[in-house]
This record gives sequence, structure tokens and C-alpha cells, in this order.
Amino acid sequence: MKYIYVVNNRCWTIIRNINILMTKKFTNIKEEDDILIYYKSNNNGFIGVCKTTNELKEQKENIKLDKYIVNIKDLSLFKDKYKPEMIKTKITSSIKGNNLFYGINTITFRKIINDIKILENKRNVEKNEREIYEDKGRIPIFMKPCDKFIYSKNKSNMIEEFKKHYGRCQKCEIVNNNNEELTPTMNRQLHYKESNNDKYVDNYLISNKLINDDITIIHIVDGLYKKCFIIEW
Ligand SMILES: [Zn+2]
Repeated sequence: MKYIYVVNNRCWTIIRNINILMTKKFTNIKEEDDILIYYKSNNNGFIGVCKTTNELKEQKENIKLDKYIVNIKDLSLFKDKYKPEMIKTKITSSIKGNNLFYGINTITFRKIINDIKILENKRNVEKNEREIYEDKGRIPIFMKPCDKFIYSKNKSNMIEEFKKHYGRCQKCEIVNNNNEELTPTMNRQLHYKESNNDKYVDNYLISNKLINDDITIIHIVDGLYKKCFIIEW
């Protein structure tokens, strides 16, 4: 069987780390079913495909997870996020909710994948043309400060504290998916701001490359990433 799986960014982080999909509702998921993953945030779209390795089963141990889980394999993420309106094939079932599976027929599934492949191909061609003269940009960096990090209401204190820990402290957790290292003392302006907008975390999670002149430290003040920083640079 083929399914569309709808997930929000908070759950996606957990799911991706432990290679499972979770849901509150029982669905007749079997081994080797194909799953098209639909990412739900303020910027919706299909992000990848995977296969199940077993049947959907009830889980009781982990209270963070929903009632039913299924293990996955062969997770392949698209190079971009594809909105339903970008895809030629129309999806009849409404895509709503969190951690839900929608059964779709094989033909629709294959057509969607094919549409996405065409878009990816087009994107690659455009990208190659663009890369000749355009800087490729940088993926935002994620930082989870250690417990010695002193948070302050004062912006310049926060910047100073950031410089003290970033790249120097062994306990702070940093994820930099670029081939380039960030040096906070580099000759670029450092800005600091606080936000609870998911788009900053989203850009990091989906490896969105951004082009910036300055470095901006975004302090996430709410949700799963509370107290963490996203650095756009
Ligand atoms: Zn630290």
C-alpha cells in the first residue's frame, strides 16, 4: 500500500532521529509499504519518501510518542519542499492533522513521485545555471547552549556570551551542515534577536541555504527548541 504521512516539524525531529513514524490512529500499515512524507508548517510540502519495515504496532513505553509506531528504512529526502499546488497530480484526500496516514492509490503515488522528480530535475538545471555567478548561500547553524550559558535580556551581553561559547565551549551542541566554519569574531556584523517563529528552525531542518551579509543569532524562545539558537550567516 501507499500512504501520505502528515507530520509537523516538532514531531519530525523526533521521528527522524529514531527512524519511526508515529500516529494516534490505527491504520493498516504493513511491511514494505511506501510512505510519502508531507511536512506541515507555515511552509507546507512533500519532503521525502520512505518504506516501512514492519506493521504498525502499539507502543506503551515512550510517553513522548503517539500510541502506534512503525519503523522505517530507505528514507530519502527531496532536495526541496514541494507544495501540492506545484505538483500536477491532484491529491483528492485532504491533508490535515498531525502524524496521520492517508492511503492513496499506487497510480497517484507514482504520479506524485514522478512530478517531484521532474521538478527536482528542473531545479538542478536552474541551480547549475545560477551557481555559475551566484553565491550558494549557507545553511543556518543550530546551537544548543550548555548549562553554563548565561541568558540575559541585554542584546550585547547575549552576543558576548555567544562569542564566549560558540566554537570554544566543548559542552555546547552545534550543528553546522556547511563545509565552512563560522567564526563569530569574523569581520561581519553580529546581530541578535529573539523569536518564536518556526520558519527559522524550518530553514535549518530542511537545509535551506540563505544568503546573508551579516550574522544573525536567533534565540528561539518557545517550543521544542526553546533556549536554542539558529544562526543565519
Ligand atoms: Zn557552552
